[in-house]
Amino acid sequence: MQIKTDYFKQNKTQYQASYNAIYKKILKYKRIAVFAHASPDYDALGTQMGLTTWLRDNFPEKEIMALGQNHVVFTPRLYPSLDVVSEEWLKKPFLAIVVDTGNAYRVADQRFHYADFVIKIDHHPAVEQYGDLNLVNTSMCATSELIADFIVNCPRKSNVLSKEAAVFLYTGIAGDSGRFQYSSTTPHTFMTAAMLMDTGIDLSRDVYLKMYGGTLNDLYVMSYILNHFSVTKNGVAYYVLSDEDLNKLNIPVERGKENVNLFAETDGINAWASITEDRPNKKWRVSLRSKEKSINGVAAHFHGGGHPQASGATLFSLDELPKLIEELDMLFAK
Ligand code: AMP
Repeated sequence: MQIKTDYFKQNKTQYQASYNAIYKKILKYKRIAVFAHASPDYDALGTQMGLTTWLRDNFPEKEIMALGQNHVVFTPRLYPSLDVVSEEWLKKPFLAIVVDTGNAYRVADQRFHYADFVIKIDHHPAVEQYGDLNLVNTSMCATSELIADFIVNCPRKSNVLSKEAAVFLYTGIAGDSGRFQYSSTTPHTFMTAAMLMDTGIDLSRDVYLKMYGGTLNDLYVMSYILNHFSVTKNGVAYYVLSDEDLNKLNIPVERGKENVNLFAETDGINAWASITEDRPNKKWRVSLRSKEKSINGVAAHFHGGGHPQASGATLFSLDELPKLIEELDMLFAK
């Protein structure tokens, strides 16, 4: 077999026209706001802050804002607080770049609609092309990987990639690839990680301790889940955390899904899910994961969507849970 060495070239032919068009829009606008999805995860904030930092480093004369939702744990440990802007700022012409968000309704700050021009950059299956320009590449394991590819192939002469921007993008890739273990990880992912590391990243200090360092309480939460999960006949493992459980465990609703991958490597478990009560919003947040079969179809039946092996959904009552679990279980019936 011939050894391939330049994995960055593979996206060049197909996506260069989009990269050029995005770069042209960036050059055109003096004011740019970068958005991501609500309930942000590593890839949402990593991409948002990675792109924002790259824009600020390369276009110091422009006003660049990152708008949306902070993370309940990782702001400010890993990501800086997002910007706060006045309505006045948003009334003047600006370019919106929305990252990692498949559907318009999931954008954390809906004021992206005020923008003169909207660019969507995403790696989720394209269910809704809400941008005036849409760059969707589902071969990327993370939107951060796609942004890094854009940066590498951007037709800019003096193109700066700071360590700060690279760390943000690295966290997005590490997060969405499960630290380079999911099937979505490709040679291009590793090339991208190597390129980002080359900016001087210390993986332990700059990335992994901040992403995955935990407390003793985290162990208690894990042990509670391991004592309370259920498994169906056809290998669907799931746990439910009610508002009372969250209070008892001393964690916010956003952290309910944190242990969903406890079941990822267990023989006989085909799919796994966390169901967490979001009492203030009168709903239950569902995180679904699967080893092989696509579960985003089931997620779509329950007000959700996402990737084939990692999706999210919403239940408006726990009465809907048996139906969700049955649909999942049926996927794996022989
Ligand atoms: P989560 O379980 O929240 O980590 O979400 C897993 C994946 O599914 C992420 O890529 C989310 O962006 C996506 N996702 C979660 N909820 C929804 C939803 N309601 N609609 C579409 N995609 C979703």
